[in-house]
Amino acid sequence: MTTKSNLHTHSTFCDGRNSIEEMILAAIDAGFTSLGFSGHAPTQFPDDDCQITDIDGYFNELETMKRKYAEKITIFKGLELESRVLGGKRPVIDPRCDYTIGSDHLFWTPEGPFSVDYTPEEWNNALKVLKDVEKLMECYYEELVSFAQEVPFDIIGHVDLYTKFNEGGRFFDENDPRLRNLALYYIDKLAATGKIFEINTGAIGKEYRSTPYPAPFILKRLHQLKAPVIISSDSHSVRTISCYFDQAEKLLKDIGYTEQMQLTEKGFVSVPL
Ligand SMILES: [Zn+2]
Ligand SMILES: [Zn+2]
Repeated sequence: MTTKSNLHTHSTFCDGRNSIEEMILAAIDAGFTSLGFSGHAPTQFPDDDCQITDIDGYFNELETMKRKYAEKITIFKGLELESRVLGGKRPVIDPRCDYTIGSDHLFWTPEGPFSVDYTPEEWNNALKVLKDVEKLMECYYEELVSFAQEVPFDIIGHVDLYTKFNEGGRFFDENDPRLRNLALYYIDKLAATGKIFEINTGAIGKEYRSTPYPAPFILKRLHQLKAPVIISSDSHSVRTISCYFDQAEKLLKDIGYTEQMQLTEKGFVSVPL
């Protein structure tokens, strides 16, 4: 495993199972040289159970832990931003962040938002509103593209999250050329923003999927476009901090990647895979 860091990490400040300190100790155990925390940024939506409610406490605890473990590991302060906050506005990046991930967890349909990744039932309810999978994908990607164009976050989170419950083709055929071309149309637009795409192994850790996001055909396109990538575990517990990293590295190398991005004190740099 050449990946010695993870920038997509949750803790008990949002919907993670372990404290910031427990996650840091797990990262040191895994041989990491750095760890970034990306708690779910506050949205102020009353029904958002994942958001951090004590944002000052979160940054204070990160600062304390960064100092405590400075000899052993570098800690980065980040947030996972939702594409919209209360009132439908775009999120503003907290100046205490070293980096941010931008993610879309909601299908913003004309009948209101539906969760992309909460339950298959809710996914299906969004599909019923929009009638077909193409419309659902357009709804998801239009939101993600405009979010990426309007907000200067660094990393695009789990870009094809809408496939989470589709293991085995439960809702749609992921090999359908029409759907693939539609996804690639939007991937090109996202790549044009210059942001980093994450190879997210989180759904494997939670046993929803057997491969990371994004799907290999998207990874191949990203490679052609020379879009920067970064492997991350979207970890919510000490068990999954480096989950599936070996396999993710192999997957990238098989496609032709020779490097990935890594955050340093001086910003993002590319490192060999
Ligand atoms: Zn997410
Ligand atoms: Zn996450």
